[in-house]
Amino acid sequence: MTIRPITIYGEPVLHRRAQEVERIDDSIRELVADMVETQDAAHGVGLAAPQVGVGLRIFTYSFADSGDQPSRGVIINPRLRLIGKVSKESADPEEESEGCLSAPGYNYPLKRSEHVEITGLDLEGEPLQFEATGWFARILQHEYDHLDGYLYVNRLDPRWARRWKKVVKKEGWNQPGLTWLPGVDPDPFGHDEPEDDHESDSGSARQDVQPEGTGPSGRGVSSHSG
Ligand SMILES: [Zn+2]
Repeated sequence: MTIRPITIYGEPVLHRRAQEVERIDDSIRELVADMVETQDAAHGVGLAAPQVGVGLRIFTYSFADSGDQPSRGVIINPRLRLIGKVSKESADPEEESEGCLSAPGYNYPLKRSEHVEITGLDLEGEPLQFEATGWFARILQHEYDHLDGYLYVNRLDPRWARRWKKVVKKEGWNQPGLTWLPGVDPDPFGHDEPEDDHESDSGSARQDVQPEGTGPSGRGVSSHSG
C-alpha cells in the first residue's frame, strides 16, 4: 500500500464528473487500499478517488458514529438519494462547518441533508444499500459530491463563497498539478501539532463533524506540485 498525494482545488480531475467503475480488478483493489492508507495518514473521515488523482466513482470513509453500518467502508459506483430536504436557513459556523483534504486548512459552514440513502457496490462487487443520518449523512454527501466534480466550497452561501474566493487567490490554488502528501507535508488541519495530544480529552465536536480534515481552521498549507 502507498500513501498517494492528495489533489488540491484547481486540479481538473476534482472538477469533472468521475467515471463508473466497469470491473473490480486488482488495479481497483490496489487503488482502494491506497485510498484507505492515504485517508488514514491524512486523518480524514472520507476520501474520494479524484482526490488521489483518479477519475473513478469510488469513495472510502472512516467514521465511528456510523450507526448500524461498519465504521469503515468503500462504496463503488454510489448513488445518493436525499431523504431529508436541505434547510434554507444559514449554516451554523460552530456546528455545521466542513473541511476538505483538497481545500486543505480551511473550514466553512454548509447546510446538508440530515438523512440520505446510499446504494452502490462493495469491494467484492456485491450491492450495498443503507440510510445514514446526521454527520454520517454529511460525509456521504461530501464524498458523493466529489464524484460529480463538486467540492463543498462550490456550494457555499455567497458570504462564505467570497471568503473562499480570496483564499484561492491567496494560496494560488486555481491551477492544475497542486498536491500535498500526508505524512510528509505538515498536516493542514493541525493533527501533527502538540495540542493534539489532548484532543481526546476535549470532546470537541469539531473533530467529528468535518468530512475529511479536522482541527483548527483558518491556517493554510503550502502546497507543492506532485
Ligand atoms: Zn472533500
